[in-house]
Amino acid sequence: MSTTNRRSFLARGAALAAVPTAAVLADGALAGQASAATLPDYAPIPPSALGPAVNAQGYYVGRVEKNLYWVTDGTYQAAFLTTREGVVLFDAPPSIGHNLQRAVDEIAAANGVSNKVTHLVYSHHHADHLGASSLFGRHVTRIGHTEAKKLLARDNDPARPVPDITFDERHTLHVGGERIELAWHGTNHTPDNVYIHLPRHNTLMLVDVLLPGWVPFDSFNLNEDVPGSIAAPAKAMSYPWKHFIGGHIGRLGTRQDMVVYQQYVDDIVENVKKALVTVDPTPYFAKYGDNVWAAVKEYQAAQVAYASDPVIRKYTGVLAAADVYTASTTFVILESLRLDLGVESQVHA
Ligand SMILES: [Zn+2]
Repeated sequence: MSTTNRRSFLARGAALAAVPTAAVLADGALAGQASAATLPDYAPIPPSALGPAVNAQGYYVGRVEKNLYWVTDGTYQAAFLTTREGVVLFDAPPSIGHNLQRAVDEIAAANGVSNKVTHLVYSHHHADHLGASSLFGRHVTRIGHTEAKKLLARDNDPARPVPDITFDERHTLHVGGERIELAWHGTNHTPDNVYIHLPRHNTLMLVDVLLPGWVPFDSFNLNEDVPGSIAAPAKAMSYPWKHFIGGHIGRLGTRQDMVVYQQYVDDIVENVKKALVTVDPTPYFAKYGDNVWAAVKEYQAAQVAYASDPVIRKYTGVLAAADVYTASTTFVILESLRLDLGVESQVHA
């Protein structure tokens, strides 16, 4: 596919614009179709959130350090290491797809090294980061966490072959004189998400936790273990590294990005604790009576607004999309504080 995501969005828009007028409803709106006039506005993206422009084929490839490179389509990221025995690829997002090999070819040709991908390291089992794995054929050695193998066997997706080499806690991968340290430090975004450390390249890759320059995606990156995810930044910072590959959006991260991210999450946690003891539930239960779900929904919405509004104000202009996704992340953290940690849990007398 040679069109970029942006181009296909535009093409889809043009196709929608060609829908015959018979589909126009009485009020002039098309069923299921949004328009710029009715969609909400959000705060501008800080320039610091944006990365390099992609090329005509829709990707950017750049050096991280020495023979380690990263590839992005502006939304997803992968990385690769060229060695004297072949290329080690880290993740294979389907949105980058065939551009992964194009990026490898481009760098390998420029440096006179092999362009043959021999190893593919899986950060975690999710299809949005691995859905182009099968493009690299059957003879690539795939490495992932033991739980990734179980989850991929369950999902049975031909695009994501199960790993050939698995590990529980740690695995050191030696390829062509290079050393890659893989480690599992407990569940976070998913049960199988691993820390990929390249000590000689001063780089840590940890996917779907810190998305440099941006707040997390919806619901704390669709979190599967909130306490584990809250603990992840400190674990990441315990490694020596200068460059961070987060798997998303268009740029690499720094240690300062991790500091800001950790502060952002801490601010949400602190504000949720305040909301849990400050927002009065009485009016919600008084109004909705027997409809307990309505009362809980509106009460928790008030708690989320109480906790997230100051965080949105603090980080607008600092982290992109603070006004887009902070509330959904706050809700997930609120539920975790209640259910995982038992904050404000009261036993009936
Ligand atoms: Zn994921």
